[in-house]
Amino acid sequence: MNIALTPITSWQDELKNAITCPEQLLKELELPDSLLAGAKLGEALFSLRVPRPYLSRIEKGNPNDPLLRQILPLQEEASTVPGYVSDPLAENSANPQSGLIHKYKNRVLLIMSGACAINCRYCFRRHFAYDENQIGRQQWASVLAYLKNNPQVNEVILSGGDPLATSDQRLLNILADLNQLPQLTRLRIHTRLPVVIPQRITNNLLTGLQGSRLNVVMVLHINHPNEIDDAVIRTCQRIKSHDITLLNQAVLLKGINDDVSVQKTLSERLFAASILPYYLFLFDKVAGAAHFDLEESVAKELVGKLQAELPGYLVPRLAREIPGKPAKTLLAPLLNT
Ligand SMILES: *Cc1c(COP(=O)(O)O)cnc(C)c1O
Ligand code: SF4
Repeated sequence: MNIALTPITSWQDELKNAITCPEQLLKELELPDSLLAGAKLGEALFSLRVPRPYLSRIEKGNPNDPLLRQILPLQEEASTVPGYVSDPLAENSANPQSGLIHKYKNRVLLIMSGACAINCRYCFRRHFAYDENQIGRQQWASVLAYLKNNPQVNEVILSGGDPLATSDQRLLNILADLNQLPQLTRLRIHTRLPVVIPQRITNNLLTGLQGSRLNVVMVLHINHPNEIDDAVIRTCQRIKSHDITLLNQAVLLKGINDDVSVQKTLSERLFAASILPYYLFLFDKVAGAAHFDLEESVAKELVGKLQAELPGYLVPRLAREIPGKPAKTLLAPLLNT
């Protein structure tokens, strides 16, 4: 008897196998050629990148699929819209040294990698100067020195790009150094990799994280319930079983998840995967992605309706980042009376 086993591709191979060519994307998803010109125009501004596990969740032949819309380059990306800029969060000015962003009193964010496993069209770092912000061996020594000089910092956030786009060995070396700083109590990892390539979560990484004296929090980035398939659920359950807290941040995107029932299903599916909703961000006004933006009042009304549908712990905090503020700015949901 022949039992067909699904071959398991390594995460490194999945990264290499990601689709980067618009023609191939349209062909594999059985989409009309009429989308090609726009896709090429958008792709020239910010490259196309979609790993296959994510691609497999996109419905074929549907140009409005909510997962497709997050990754398909469009002609609109080439339009200049007043008020939409290349560095909407003024990160370049909160960048005291290469790879480190320190905006909030007791946590710093480290740009661990310029690479992402997926390129999201709405990304607020789509114009970020990653080349000038690499953390190599030398920069890592300065990051540690910076932390020692700023003893009020008790939490380090690994971000990117995607911090999990780097090797386990590099992450574990970094963790070993951070473990030695008595001022730190928490380590946070902001990543979309467990969602787009679930195999990225190796046992080696999980064991290393569990062995740290720091409390580890993983903040995922999932915008739509269709992103959560069985492989994602299994991966999240493994993460949780290693004492890692799982949270989700999403971005509110016009035509993708700006709908009460989509948000309700998202929260419920997140919870089924052991993830709690954390933030729902209003879109950051980044150049090239204005077509995803929606009015603040629409967002407040949507979350007000969501509150009536869910227990409080499954309602994400509606927030936006306003440069210069000491924390994210929370927006009160609009409740119908
Ligand atoms: C969003 C962000 C954080 C984290 O903020 P929390 O409210 O703690 O999630 C930290 N540093 C920077 C630079 C940020 O943009
Ligand atoms: S995974 Fe995050 S950082 Fe990377 S492209 Fe998407 S939104 Fe941007």
